Amino acid sequence: MEMLRDDDQAWRLEAACADLTSEEFFLAGDDLEGMRRAQAVCAGCPVKAECLEFALASNQSLGIWGGTTPNERRRLRREWLRKAS
Ligand code: SF4
Repeated sequence: MEMLRDDDQAWRLEAACADLTSEEFFLAGDDLEGMRRAQAVCAGCPVKAECLEFALASNQSLGIWGGTTPNERRRLRREWLRKAS
């Protein structure tokens, strides 16, 4: 599995959510409206792919990352792990 380095996170500087609070991306599981709002921000984010890759590699189990919900990432991570092995 690929190791993450500090300089692998330079993408964060271009994050569309940089000026938003973490509460807007780390939501209760039943806050569907909040998730849709966060995903709308992600949809226009220039580093969406890098964000999702980071979340899969570091197994982020909470919050919206790269436009995906925790449930969506669980499925994607199984696929990601299969490809990474
Ligand atoms: S994809 Fe979404 S969570 Fe990731 S950096 Fe962009 S706006 Fe933030």
